Amino acid sequence: MHIEIQRNSETSLSKQIFLSIVDHIRSGLIPQGSQLPSVRELSKELEVSFVTVVKAYKELEKGNFITSIQGKGTFVNTEETEIEEIKNDYLPFNWQLSIQDYLPRAQFSRFHHVPGEIQLSSSMIDPGLLPNRYLEQEIHKMLSENPRILSQYSEIQGDYNLREAMTQYLKQFEVPTTPDNLLITNGSQQGLDLVARTFVGPGDVVVMESPTYPGAIDIFRGRGATILTVPVDKEGMKVDILQNLCDKYKPKIIYTIPTFHNPTGAVMSLKRRRQILEIAKSIQCIIVEDDPWGEIYFDKKPPAPIKSIDYYGHVIYLKGLSKTLAPSCRIGILSASGSIFNRLLAAKSNADLGSPLLTQKSLLPFITSKKMIDHMKKLRTALRVRRDLTLDLLSQYAPEEISWIIPNGGLNIWISLPTWIDTNLLLMEAKKNFVTFLPGSACYPVEQENHHMRLSFSYMNEQQLQHGIITLCNIFNSEITSKKMKNNTPYF
Ligand code: PMP
Repeated sequence: MHIEIQRNSETSLSKQIFLSIVDHIRSGLIPQGSQLPSVRELSKELEVSFVTVVKAYKELEKGNFITSIQGKGTFVNTEETEIEEIKNDYLPFNWQLSIQDYLPRAQFSRFHHVPGEIQLSSSMIDPGLLPNRYLEQEIHKMLSENPRILSQYSEIQGDYNLREAMTQYLKQFEVPTTPDNLLITNGSQQGLDLVARTFVGPGDVVVMESPTYPGAIDIFRGRGATILTVPVDKEGMKVDILQNLCDKYKPKIIYTIPTFHNPTGAVMSLKRRRQILEIAKSIQCIIVEDDPWGEIYFDKKPPAPIKSIDYYGHVIYLKGLSKTLAPSCRIGILSASGSIFNRLLAAKSNADLGSPLLTQKSLLPFITSKKMIDHMKKLRTALRVRRDLTLDLLSQYAPEEISWIIPNGGLNIWISLPTWIDTNLLLMEAKKNFVTFLPGSACYPVEQENHHMRLSFSYMNEQQLQHGIITLCNIFNSEITSKKMKNNTPYF
């Protein structure tokens, strides 16, 4: 178990221990029913006082995460089964928790889907809207014409023809690049990982939006970064707050998703894009600009990426293709320049010696044909219909206490419930009805807010979407009514 303590943080030590253990439990890194170290052991290991650990454990008990059994120890609660029943299953493995790891958090590992479930949790596109059949034919053709592809490595930087095609593709975003400045990665997730392994070490300061993409939090946390957060409003990251943080802490990296931000859907204004770049220039830091679905806009085209005005190589731009084209091919593109690019290329070679040639070649005919542009047009239309349907259903069925941000692109809607509703608990209820969503707590790098959720409208077809949203609204209604009745106090 890895509990990271920052002694100069404004968050108390007991709160840090509490949050870290909550993350471990929610991620499944500490299994349900397993035994936590004793207060004495943990206080010794973390070099904190006995009282600090007692306080953290008390909070965990209050939050229903753990149970202390007199004379036996402290155990992680289970969703359904009695601790006594499940505890014995974990007894042989309890020693493993004393093995130190470097995974402070791994939020995605907790999402296990069951067949038949209505997944509003997945920021993915309905397979029915992706060009699977065409890609399948191209793969057959390619392999029968050139089976030797199977016996070759790709260039570490990525197949030259694909880099050339992506250079062309990126022109529509006004991202100036050449095949020499592009690196093909195994999805943007690997792009983020390469950036973190290359430039982030323990104690380095990374600024992130709050909320943000959980997969990025896990990566930067895993490198031991000190994460500082900047709230997001409808124009994206709040630049005045960013400026203050940068003046005081001189971060090494600013991570942002300016276009259809994950999870809120916000679009950063052009003015803020320019301001962020100016800040990065003034303190000589790197901006990591993550752009998984900038093509999916419903109204007007969003402003061009920050990368389009980056003349001094401050921006590492990540363009995912897995969402919009073929998740299983795991192709992403990283564009950077100067020695930053060379160092990332070296990191890619350490990581995997290059992405699979087979998947790179598989996508090439599609990307270089007009089909790619037509496909994106089709996606914009189909996903707009699903976004509108979701908004209509929410307006019709959601209780008045609930609010949401209307996304003008991307795959998600960010929903806020009253602060006294915990969406982690709502998720358990939703799962009983075979519906899932992403609880907002997963998206907060530091202090969590528990009353939001991210709904993805892109993965399910319209019928399933309708069923899922109505089911969720029913759950919202009954939760709000029962909470109000229990407390018997008017909240409004
Ligand atoms: N960045 C963001 C903002 C994402 O939402 C995701 C996936 N949901 C990724 C990166 C990783 O995407 P992939 O590796 O599939 O390209």
